[in-house]
Amino acid sequence: MSQLSAPLSPGGASAGPGPAAAARATALSKVYGKGEARVTALDGVTVEFARARFTAVMGPSGSGKSTLMHCLAGLEAVTSGSARVGDTELSRLNDRELTALRRDRVGFVFQGFNLLPTLTALENVVLPLRIAGRRPDPAWLDAVVATVGLAGRLGHRPAELSGGQQQRVAVARALISRPEIVFADEPTGNLDSRSGAEVLGFLRDSVRELGQTVVMVTHDPVAAAYADRVVFLADGRVVDELHAPDSGAVLDRMLRFEARDPAR
Ligand code: ADP
Repeated sequence: MSQLSAPLSPGGASAGPGPAAAARATALSKVYGKGEARVTALDGVTVEFARARFTAVMGPSGSGKSTLMHCLAGLEAVTSGSARVGDTELSRLNDRELTALRRDRVGFVFQGFNLLPTLTALENVVLPLRIAGRRPDPAWLDAVVATVGLAGRLGHRPAELSGGQQQRVAVARALISRPEIVFADEPTGNLDSRSGAEVLGFLRDSVRELGQTVVMVTHDPVAAAYADRVVFLADGRVVDELHAPDSGAVLDRMLRFEARDPAR
């Protein structure tokens, strides 16, 4: 694992991301506003997210977690530095190309599920492909549905499903296009702890069993302990990371960073 997230070897032939990186930020800065209202949300972040790994991003409120995810997903333009998905430098893409990247190469899971209420679970899962005019690969659809534990619920509408089941539909929808990377923003924030544990287990299975790549923003040390690695942000910078974390170790680091900056 450590070699997957190691920096480029000195003298490496390529200045681009190694084959193991699903996404990478290099000296990435993001500034919002001007003058008095100027906020540096990201301040020279260099981090890579290895393929087929589950990474949690943690940090105090306002530390830049969402901004990092949005810059790497092509939802926000960077101010300086670079954001890449695979080999693709996002700042070189026009709007049409960014839309295609978000549709075909990136998956999203949000706190609020964002399912369409009039569609069944199955229709919600395959919606991104339908919009793109593509058919689901039956074997992949079966694998995704089995991995997120939805078999038997595919004909239900969201209102007929529990919060945990709705989030499992949202995870399946994020995976259906076999994206290069899935970004999950507080995916268990609206769930009770048992449903949250199920969803986290399915996210982890999508990495271990289906080889997917997941980057998850969370405040919850128990959720972060499902990840292979935790990256900590504070004040728009990467300040630490843990590998194969347990929740006690995550909590210990969090308290250290929160204590450093009691104003937030
Ligand atoms: P986190 O996700 O860790 O809570 P954010 O990435 O949302 O942090 O925000 C980082 C900083 O950037 C905060 O100070 C926030 O107020 C600011 N920020 C985020 N989005 C905007 C925006 N659209 N306009 C102005 N400031 C923003």
